[in-house]
Amino acid sequence: MPPRAFRLPARLSAAAALLALAGCGGASLTAATPPTSSVPRTQAAASPPASPTPSVQPSPSPSPQPLAGKVILIDPGHNGGNAADPQYINQLVNVITESKPCDTVGAETDAGYPEHAFNFSVAIRLARLLRAEGAKVVLTRTSDHGVGPCITQRAALGNQVHADAAISIHADGGPPGGSGFDVIEPGLVPGYTNAIVGPSARLGRDLRNAFHRITGEPYANYVGQNAIDVRTDLGGLNLSQVPKVFVECANMRNAADAARLTSPAWRQRAAVALAAGFTKFLTAGSPAGSG
Ligand code: ZN
Repeated sequence: MPPRAFRLPARLSAAAALLALAGCGGASLTAATPPTSSVPRTQAAASPPASPTPSVQPSPSPSPQPLAGKVILIDPGHNGGNAADPQYINQLVNVITESKPCDTVGAETDAGYPEHAFNFSVAIRLARLLRAEGAKVVLTRTSDHGVGPCITQRAALGNQVHADAAISIHADGGPPGGSGFDVIEPGLVPGYTNAIVGPSARLGRDLRNAFHRITGEPYANYVGQNAIDVRTDLGGLNLSQVPKVFVECANMRNAADAARLTSPAWRQRAAVALAAGFTKFLTAGSPAGSG
């Protein structure tokens, strides 16, 4: 086995830079935040200046940035360079309930469209939408041609930045006869996931409902129940200290699903749906940001 201490920083490039940033306390995330000055405020000019009273009128319009102050971790599953470095991605990591490879190459459609590219496309679109709503967004990888990071590091980053919610974006390599999407939630791993099981289940339901409504994608008919699957074998969930789910947006091996997910317009719809789910989860029932 090669010396990992040398290989790691050379391979991870942008993702390692993010991790290094987060390692400094998670506060230096300014690059992830868009300037707020670009928000249009056309409504303010609507009322005529007829009244002589100088009192300030309260604005009844909802905040254009409902996610201001929220931190969201987006983890696009796999990476475009993984196939070229089996020695790195096959190293075993501890995910509490078992040991498993650091990362995998992911699935692909029968025509060869790779899952890592799909995941990254949806992730970038989702990040743009969430930032427009005021959220700070942190990505576990910022390109689609690197290697890794390991699933353990992907989970650790969400913890380090104290994400209010986190998601791993995937597409499945299921049986060709199976179609649909599902959300994977953390099961109870005593001593590890106790605190996140409840909020992750709420996050999962909000994302499931929005995804189904906005994309029209059916619930998976070959895994889970009502598009919800609970698992304790995923490092990305077992090691998370923040509410987190995986989404398997579609089955890449199914012809109908493949036709949808290879369409950029459908990937945009998927991102819009996920953004709606996050907004629901992060704004529901939390007065003054107590959530
Ligand atoms: Zn995957």
